Amino acid sequence: MIRYALACATGHEFEGWFASSADYDDQESGGLLHCPVCNSSRIAKQIMAPGVVSQRSGDGMMEAINQLRDHVEATYENVGDAFASEARAIHEGKAETREIFGQATPREVEGLVADGVPVAALPPRPPAKRQMN
Ligand SMILES: [Zn+2]
Repeated sequence: MIRYALACATGHEFEGWFASSADYDDQESGGLLHCPVCNSSRIAKQIMAPGVVSQRSGDGMMEAINQLRDHVEATYENVGDAFASEARAIHEGKAETREIFGQATPREVEGLVADGVPVAALPPRPPAKRQMN
């Protein structure tokens, strides 16, 4: 399963679970995704970075998300708000090929996806849990 942080065209933020990125694409292109606040079908993924998590649930899932984020933040280049332009430059061979993460607006994401640039959402980091010793 993949969890995507989604946002509608007017900026309402919510989450969706999908069997795969192709499942998301099918639902998005079929107009099956709707904002729970305003019912808009103009939906886009939010924070962009590879974001596949395991089928485990509960603590295992939280741990997997933390490990994924730790891995991405430790090894990928944080390009911040420049994510959309950098992702496009890499895709077009105008920038050094490397793994990056950062933020993109729903409108920027729509443009990237429309141009075939491979992007995916990174799950939000779960709230820190108190250690039980
Ligand atoms: Zn909305």
